[in-house]
Order: sequence, then structure tokens, then C-alpha cells
Amino acid sequence: MTRPSAVVVGLGAVGSATALQLARAGWEVIGLDRWTPPHRHGSTHGETRVTRTSAWEGAQYVPLVARANVLIEALAEEVGESLGVRCGGLFIGAPDDFHVAGSRASAVATGIPYEMPDAAAMATRWPELVIPDGMVGFFDPGAGVLYPERIVAAQLRLAEAAGAELRFGAEVLDFGVDGEGAWVRMAHGIQKADRVILCTGAWMPDVLAGLGLELRVERVTQHWFAERPEAPRRSLADAPVLLVSDGQGALTAAFPTIGGRIKGAGHGSGFFTTADSVDRAIHADDVEPVHTLLQRVLPQHVGPHLESATCLYTCTPNGQFILDRDPEHAQLIYGSACNGFGFKFAAASGEILACLAIGISSPVDPGPWRLPQR
Ligand SMILES: Cc1cc2nc3c(=O)[nH]c(=O)nc-3n(C[C@H](O)[C@H](O)[C@H](O)COP(=O)(O)OP(=O)(O)OC[C@H]3O[C@@H](n4cnc5c(N)ncnc54)[C@H](O)[C@@H]3O)c2cc1C
Repeated sequence: MTRPSAVVVGLGAVGSATALQLARAGWEVIGLDRWTPPHRHGSTHGETRVTRTSAWEGAQYVPLVARANVLIEALAEEVGESLGVRCGGLFIGAPDDFHVAGSRASAVATGIPYEMPDAAAMATRWPELVIPDGMVGFFDPGAGVLYPERIVAAQLRLAEAAGAELRFGAEVLDFGVDGEGAWVRMAHGIQKADRVILCTGAWMPDVLAGLGLELRVERVTQHWFAERPEAPRRSLADAPVLLVSDGQGALTAAFPTIGGRIKGAGHGSGFFTTADSVDRAIHADDVEPVHTLLQRVLPQHVGPHLESATCLYTCTPNGQFILDRDPEHAQLIYGSACNGFGFKFAAASGEILACLAIGISSPVDPGPWRLPQR
């Protein structure tokens, strides 16, 4: 009897997880990527990503991130490598800012642990911080930092070890259905399979345009600053990951120091582009707002700017992921899990996509991430 087969297109955060799950389920998997992940062309580069146990995106994301955390911890154990650190996460802002109020609402709704330190409590516990007036804190003790390149590389290694065939430099130009199965077309030929799973990140707008869904790609930037060597008390290497509001609606993340460098990244930019035409040069006005805010909040630690990188958010119209089968052709499956917050969920998103391909129920119900009804 021949094994069921799948082609996974795009082997970044979501696709590498999907390929691993399907290969482990005994499927014949061909994974295709136009570059060699992990790489800097898409959405999964820059050393670190925030993970949390709370979810300002909505309580429906709490079980998804819980499942992803289990999968990532198992992955780390299996590969014998550190894939992140649970340093806690402190989210600072006005009480009604989405990252404070939304995180609290999700924690209350699901019963996960959290703390709401006031300014005095934050000053005692994290004396390196200068908290702007009127701001409160939401502390997620299970939050932390993940290492995206290591995770993608580990998932791909294990997928290959489980029998997946991975092809890099393999750009998929088109896809479609063929009877009960599906196909993808590359420059050098056609590959057929029982299922095709499309996880092309910032290239998903082209994939989903055929369904009348308009995804937008947002240019964002991430920056590294030197930790000042004279910084008092302790290095930020022991600090929680921070999400800090500038008081005017913009949110910036600050990561614990790695190798003497503090990373900062703004959440969103409002600048929409395409994955192939994005301006990858770094400009002074990319760096300045992040640098200024971090110097205000961590004045004794944040030193000169070192380097920056552009990155891409893929934004769905309703801000929710898409983890679903094609409405007319169940052999085509779509995974678009970004909106600027998708990495922490990606291991579980890939598991859902694999379960949709196999036709079994997944540990987390994908109901909230169905394609909008047409
Ligand atoms: C600056 C920045 C900060 C972020 N911070 C966080 C954070 O702190 N926490 C968090 O949870 N999330 C965060 N995110 C979001 C998260 O990183 C993304 O949701 C996630 O990495 C997206 O993974 P993906 O698999 O969808 O895309 P990718 O990892 O980009 O993978 C898509 C893959 O598809 C391939 N591909 C595309 N087209 C084709 C084709 N035609 N043929 C073959 N292959 C193709 C690409 O080469 C690529 O490898 C951030 C994103 C950015 C940009």
C-alpha cells in the first residue's frame, strides 16, 4: 500500500512544523522552499521572538500557545539544545492599552497565572526600569524568548530524519487540484501529492487572492543596541522580555541582552508593501523611535545602535490566523499565521495544518482560524 503524500510549500516557522508533524505521522512529505530556511527574506529571522502564556489577541489563542510551548519544550529536549528562555514578560502601558488589558482579559478568562504590579512594585523589582507616569504593568511569568532560527533548523532536521525530502531553491510558481489530489508547478516540473499545504508567509497574499481574501504585507524593522558596559547592578541578560507602549499607541519590544546586545523592535509600522518589493535598506527614522523609547525606559543600559534588519508581517483582514482547508478543494490547505505575533504559536499551527491534511482532529480546535465565509 502506498503512503499518503503531502507537499509542504514554504519551510519557515509554520511550514517546518507542518512538515515535521506529517513526516512523523508516516506521510511521504516533500518540503519545498524558494530559499534555504532559516533565512532573512521572510518573517522568521532576528535571533529572538517573544513568547507568552497570555494572549492579548483573544482567549482562543491561550490553548494554542500552551500547546506550542509543550511542543517546543519537547523539541528542545529532543535536539538537546536551548531553543529559548522562560524569563517572564513585563508588559507596560496604560491600563486600557491592548497589550495590558487584552493580556489580563485572556488570563482572567482562562485562569492562567499573572500579576499586575503597580509603578512602585515595578521600581522595586526591576530598578533598571524608568516607568513613564500613568503606566501599569502586566507580568506574565510564563512568557519568555524563543530562538526562531534554531527552532526552524531543528524542525527541519527532525523532519528529514523522519523521512521528509526537503528541496531548497525550489520556488513554487502555481498550484491546483487534480482529481482527489493536488499539484504544484516549479520551473523544472510538476510535483503531485494527495495534499498541498501552503505556508508561504509574506507570499501568502498571492496564494489567497484567488479566494477573494486580501492579505497585506507590512514592512517592520528590528534593531540591536550595545548594552552599556557601565550599566549598574546587573546585565539585562537576566531581565524579563518587555513590551512597552510609547503612550501614543505604538508598542516596542525589548529583549534580554544576548552577547552584550539589547534587541528592540516596534510592533507594526503602518507601511504596507509586498514581499518582493520591500525596501530592505534601514533608515534613521526606522531606528530613532525604538532607540529613543528604549533609552527612556532603560537609560542606564541602552547604548549606541549597532545594526538593524527589515522583516515582514503578513496581515489578515480580521487580524486572525488562517489555518484551514480550501472551501471547495479539501486537498489544498492554507496556513497564514503572522499578523506580527505568529511565531510563538507556529509549532501548534503546524500541528493543526498536519491534522487538517490527515483528516483527524487536532489537540487544539482550529475553529477560530477558519477562512472567513464567502
Ligand atoms: C520583526 C518581527 C518581529 C516579530 N516578533 C514576534 C514575536 O515577538 N513573537 C511572535 O510570536 N511572533 C513575532 N513575529 C511574527 C512571526 O515571526 C511570524 O508570524 C512567523 O515567523 C511567520 O512564519 P511563517 O512560516 O508564516 O513565514 P516564514 O517563516 O517567512 O516562511 C515562509 C516561507 O515560505 C517560503 N516561500 C515563499 N514563497 C514561496 C514559493 N512560492 N515557493 C517556495 N517557497 C516559498 C519562504 O522562502 C519562507 O521560507 C514577528 C515578525 C517580525 C517580522
